[in-house]
Amino acid sequence: MSAAIPSTCRATVGAMTELLERTLGSGPEALARAHLAACPRCREVLDALRLLPSTLAELTDAPEPAGLSARILAAIEPGSPTRG
Ligand SMILES: [Zn+2]
Repeated sequence: MSAAIPSTCRATVGAMTELLERTLGSGPEALARAHLAACPRCREVLDALRLLPSTLAELTDAPEPAGLSARILAAIEPGSPTRG
């Protein structure tokens, strides 16, 4: 069912910051975009990340918190241990 998705949610979420900054590179970006096209859950995460800088800017001048992607991963994959 998900065999057509060429990447995992974990890899895609982990690459989202670079995807938004367009520093990912064409190969990984193509994989991430293909995954996003097939995965509504990751699109929601990407939308949230896209909105986050402006949301934070309204609150404070603080930069994006460290470990943000890890916390999002933990939220979408509860109980899943970190694997290489
Ligand atoms: Zn996904």
